[in-house]
Amino acid sequence: MTKTGPREDPHDDLTVTPPKRWAAGVPAVAHAMEYSLEQAGPRRTMLTLLSLNQAEGIDCPGCAWPDPKHRHKNEYCENGAKHVNDEATTRRVTRELFARHSIAELDAKSDMWLNHQGRLTEPMVKRPGATHYEPIGWDDALGIVADELNALASPDEAMFYTSGRLNNEAAFLLQLFARAYGTNNLPDCSNMCHESSGSGLGETLGIGKGSVSLDDIHESDLVFVVGQNPGTNHPRMLSALEETKRNGGRVIAVNPLPEAGLIRFKNPQRPRGVIGRGTVIADQFLKIRPGGDLALFQMLNRLLLEAEDAAPGTVLDHDFIAAHTIGYDDFAAHARTITWEHVLEATGLDRAEIEAVHEQVLRSRSVIVCWAMGLTQHRHGVPTIREIVSFLMLRGNLGRPGAGVCPVRGHSNVQGDRTMGIWERVPDRFLDALGREFDFEPPRRHGYDSVEGVRAMRDGRARVFVGVAGNFVRAMSDSDVTEAALRSCSLTVQISTKLNRSHTVCGETALILPTLGRSDRDVQATGEQFVTVEDSMSEVHQSRGRLAPASPHLLSEVAIIGRLARRTLGSGADGIGAIPWEDFEADYGLVRDRIARVVPGFADFNARVAVPGGFRLPNPVNEGVFPTPSGKAVFFRNEPTWIEPPPGHLVLQSLRSHDQWNTIPYAMNDRYRGIHDARRIVMVNPDDLADLGIADRDLVDLVSVWTDGSERRAPGFRVVAYPAARGSAASYYPETNVLVPLDSVAEISNTPTSKGVIVRLEPAPLR
Ligand code: SF4
Repeated sequence: MTKTGPREDPHDDLTVTPPKRWAAGVPAVAHAMEYSLEQAGPRRTMLTLLSLNQAEGIDCPGCAWPDPKHRHKNEYCENGAKHVNDEATTRRVTRELFARHSIAELDAKSDMWLNHQGRLTEPMVKRPGATHYEPIGWDDALGIVADELNALASPDEAMFYTSGRLNNEAAFLLQLFARAYGTNNLPDCSNMCHESSGSGLGETLGIGKGSVSLDDIHESDLVFVVGQNPGTNHPRMLSALEETKRNGGRVIAVNPLPEAGLIRFKNPQRPRGVIGRGTVIADQFLKIRPGGDLALFQMLNRLLLEAEDAAPGTVLDHDFIAAHTIGYDDFAAHARTITWEHVLEATGLDRAEIEAVHEQVLRSRSVIVCWAMGLTQHRHGVPTIREIVSFLMLRGNLGRPGAGVCPVRGHSNVQGDRTMGIWERVPDRFLDALGREFDFEPPRRHGYDSVEGVRAMRDGRARVFVGVAGNFVRAMSDSDVTEAALRSCSLTVQISTKLNRSHTVCGETALILPTLGRSDRDVQATGEQFVTVEDSMSEVHQSRGRLAPASPHLLSEVAIIGRLARRTLGSGADGIGAIPWEDFEADYGLVRDRIARVVPGFADFNARVAVPGGFRLPNPVNEGVFPTPSGKAVFFRNEPTWIEPPPGHLVLQSLRSHDQWNTIPYAMNDRYRGIHDARRIVMVNPDDLADLGIADRDLVDLVSVWTDGSERRAPGFRVVAYPAARGSAASYYPETNVLVPLDSVAEISNTPTSKGVIVRLEPAPLR
């Protein structure tokens, strides 16, 4: 049995208050300011917040929610303010800190402690056999990487990971470097979260992105928010939903937990949100079992077909179905076989609740379905998304105002990085264009995604890991295997702004290469530079740092990647030797010129992104074009699938606390859920606790059980009675990553199944 404990003793000062019934309001402003001032001080806080999400300011790295066209001067949320000032902190990690603490000592610290040390300031190296990091110059550091890469037996023994913090220009150069070097091993954080969205939308609509704009959300008659907690993970989505409600639209929330932001929103930018009761967000809340969403949409589809039978020609959009889709007959025949018995068991909902949703759908001319990881991180995440697309297509809810698909992504440029070619399976047409532009033949073998990458390192097929942004070791499932895989590498390289766990889990040689953050001013040989990003709704715009960099020794990601490429690939008169990395570093506009010639939708990139607010990439779905092999959108027949825990077990989903950004907790609290001063907690419905004979605040181990008979243990979690869906449990990530085996992945997308973990709670032995 796998067994991993906390890196520090369980923090056990837990206090619990009733979960909040509303999100944001004045407390959110106060919390944002408190953290920002503590980290960055008054001057830097003012500089960041005044320019955050403004037309020529800093794009918030907090999430990928888009900015409205008519901007307020405070265009950010609590978590955006906290995140940008976490980066703008005045705290510094110096060589003295690395001299004081061995790597083993750093590894024993918590994620929060590591983050709170501040910004990295100079390149550091851990040499083979060493116990400590020591300073190293940039030239020597990049020379180590280039020599190691050039010594590999095959380019496929290296992998280049990115998180969604990377801007478009750096992402384009990174994939160019990797492919010029000879590999498509470009795993990214999308592999671990939204890959199921890309796969499901790609199969059905031909493009793995959402189709709606912010205006569509505002104008929609009915917005579903499924498997998603906007109050914490993309808080300004609540302003958009508030607008939906003001315009007479309705919202249906579907989630195992009644999150505060789904109940009521107090918009701190409106008097009603400051002194009033705010806006009710969800008109109907379905407290669904984890993994029950496929069954829910299958029944909604059956009900639509039956409504059409009862009143032919009044329910379905036959013109849309005939003109734009294939597979309808097979899909419809299958949908009619879905039974109430199965759906009620899979969802844990009442029949009346689902029929009430159906009535709302019939009354709505335009419908949007938004979702996040509550759908994608299940074994059947891709079929669920296919079923949602079918649900929308039945009534023609694609490509018209107020209607469409809306996967809401977590990291600020995760969608843009994929657009720029950070993809281990990028289509041949992209490689053709890249090869033509830079006069070389890119490799055609598919590369490793994140799960395959860990397998490759574990099995000795990959030996060099280069991570550009992010915290790979804490983001991945199966913490023990992932850590062992990284430790087995000959070289690990982390290009980072702040200290994190991925710096303490080292290969034989390890490098920390410190880089500029989104908030730092970026000055190169031709002057001050800006970068670009793409949000969840395909809007591309500038981001320009405003602060003096954290240290004079930092390089931008564009500079690091360009210099590393030059050292690795050498120079020459043509082919990859002629790629002008130095020119790219001096003037990011030259990178954008190349992007314009390689990436569809970016013609005239420099001119269009110079316009305040930037531009929106075309989405063929909105033109009635579906770039699937058949040229039509596809109805899929999905086998009914749900999670059936054995008696005495629950379905655990891992989630973030409110005081957390991705893998990094900023504090030990989860304000909206009423959890204070503890993270090793598990939230369970009181009736389930009674059935299990476990009391509120008992100390338990979480033991996950898998179909291959294996078990994994995460020790020492305090039970919190919580109004969660019956049969479910919820606990924080990354502490629970250890419970998910590397091979437990979603069908087709290979996304770890972190929202569908079958667990039992065992009384914790005294330790
Ligand atoms: S919603 Fe997301 S992008 Fe917008 S300010 Fe908040 S964290 Fe930043």
